[in-house]
Amino acid sequence: MIGERRKTVVIVGGGITGLAAARRLRYHSPDIAVFLIESDDRLGGKISTVREDGFVIEGGPDSFLSYKPRGLGLCRELGLENRLHGTNRKVSRTYIMRGGRLYQLPEGLTGLIPSRFEPMLKTPLISPWGKARMGLEFLVPPRKEVDDESLEAFVSRRLGHEAYDRMIEPLMSGVYAGDGSQLSLDATFPNLRKAELEHGSLIKSMLATRAHPVRQSATQNVKKWPAFLTLETGLTEIVEHVVSDLHDVQITLKTRVKAVTANDGIDMPRYRVTGENGEEFMADAIILATPAFITEQLVNQIDPEAAKALTEIPYVSTATVSVAYPLSQVPGSLDSYGYIVPRSEGRAVLACTWTSTKFPHRAPQQYALLRAFLGRAGNEAVLELSDDELIALVRDELRAVLGITAVPHLQTIFRWPKAMPQYTLGHLQRLKTIEHQFRKHEGLFYAGAAYQGIGIPDCIASGEAAAEKTYAYCETLKASEALHL
Ligand SMILES: Cc1cc2nc3c(=O)[nH]c(=O)nc-3n(C[C@H](O)[C@H](O)[C@H](O)COP(=O)(O)OP(=O)(O)OC[C@H]3O[C@@H](n4cnc5c(N)ncnc54)[C@H](O)[C@@H]3O)c2cc1C
Repeated sequence: MIGERRKTVVIVGGGITGLAAARRLRYHSPDIAVFLIESDDRLGGKISTVREDGFVIEGGPDSFLSYKPRGLGLCRELGLENRLHGTNRKVSRTYIMRGGRLYQLPEGLTGLIPSRFEPMLKTPLISPWGKARMGLEFLVPPRKEVDDESLEAFVSRRLGHEAYDRMIEPLMSGVYAGDGSQLSLDATFPNLRKAELEHGSLIKSMLATRAHPVRQSATQNVKKWPAFLTLETGLTEIVEHVVSDLHDVQITLKTRVKAVTANDGIDMPRYRVTGENGEEFMADAIILATPAFITEQLVNQIDPEAAKALTEIPYVSTATVSVAYPLSQVPGSLDSYGYIVPRSEGRAVLACTWTSTKFPHRAPQQYALLRAFLGRAGNEAVLELSDDELIALVRDELRAVLGITAVPHLQTIFRWPKAMPQYTLGHLQRLKTIEHQFRKHEGLFYAGAAYQGIGIPDCIASGEAAAEKTYAYCETLKASEALHL
């Protein structure tokens, strides 16, 4: 149409959220000019893979959940399905530490709800009293109060504190690196509260699910993937393929956005995005795909109330240390995906993935690749250790637990300051405030791990949802401009 101005969208942040938003926007409308601005010298954010000497080492995320639709969905759209690897089906066990020793995690802890009696009865991880307390769960009445409850309070109330401390807390920590006494049940595992309300108890809910299992349609020719998936040469493949799919998106690296301001008056474009070196981008719409504490700084001038709610989303710092050894230097067999460590064990290592067992393609055959995960809510000082100190700490851990005394053949450290958003008590109320405030500013959108899911599929879905809203907004702009032509 003569006189119609091309709409411009600026996406701030080139992690998987921002990339997914850019891709969705590009597919919707080649007419929109899309700019993606990233402060780092690379794209991908927390997704960071090192490929070295036949090893595939993940610094951040290690795999994604297959049952959440947009991880697998995006891989399919990118033509990556035949490059996916599920967890090793031959060895599908995980250990939990107790008193410095490793015990097998009872099978059937789907979604944190015990789904089978037998493994619970047999596990030496829980004392007879703890088991009896778990068994009484079906007698515990549902909580009447509707206010937010912490994950720890809920699980201790229903299954007893021992079950929380020895099984559920370490499982939850593996996702959020958080403190269960602060995490909101409604925001992290809403299915648990739903089961309590619908069935009166978790055990009754388990029995009901068994009696009426969800049937998969016979016509639904769905390949049954293991719960966790990764790619042949690491999760960075997703980033690389999304980027090569971003035709005509103008990507600017090494540019830290320091401010977003709304233009006065009715002249379009509405927003001005300023980089720390004075770069300027004018935008009809913006997607802020940055961590909440950055988004807060960027919207502070436009909406202090939204900024205040964003500051209330805390973050935890973590680090990962990957080490490889020739198998000949590893006593015993690495017969599991690794182990997780309850907070009550008081150790610096939160979990240790036996990567070359979990995903055998990620190390040459004659090597073991292991990854220690360090730092959790309340124990983040570990990030301040020097590289040598971190390696020494991990080597001490592996000596004590696995008897490995050799010097690693290879070692890689990633520090992740303020990396894991915490959905603490009141999170859902905070989200309502943020959403309510952003709605007041047409064309201003946000997405990312801080809001409704921290996993990669959640971030992809969040970026894509923000792109949908942005596209719809650009369409309304076009329609109203057409009226005035
Ligand atoms: C150690 C670790 C292990 C994890 N393991 C898993 C796992 O196994 N499976 C899973 O599904 N998830 C896992 N996660 C979570 C998942 O990786 C993240 O939630 C997800 O990658 C976040 O994506 P994002 O794009 O929202 O944010 P980010 O990846 O943080 O991207 C935000 C981007 O914004 C950029 N940025 C920041 N400020 C500015 C600015 N002012 N201007 C311009 N750009 C800016 C940053 O440089 C970054 O690139 C893990 C996370 C960590 C840290």
